[in-house]
Amino acid sequence: MNRIIQNYNNSKHHKEQIEITLSKLNSLRSQIIELRIKCEKLKFETEKRNRKICEKCKKEIRKNEKVTFKNTSKKITNHFHKRCFEILVACLN
Ligand SMILES: [Zn+2]
Repeated sequence: MNRIIQNYNNSKHHKEQIEITLSKLNSLRSQIIELRIKCEKLKFETEKRNRKICEKCKKEIRKNEKVTFKNTSKKITNHFHKRCFEILVACLN
């Protein structure tokens, strides 16, 4: 009889442990979701901040097609599309 009670108590204890673990897991899951949302927001903000507009055509410049022109004396930084910059350089020559 004692053994049955002990088994019952053990299984009750296990069940409680499983419930605690599950609730921890659920809490972690919701934390992960929150972190993902924060991460996406940060990514969006960074992309927005890093967005460059071409000085020549006034359109947005995507990665890999950017030319940065710095005039260190006037501390001006201009951004161009590679193609737009080539056209400008060709006009100067
Ligand atoms: Zn351009």
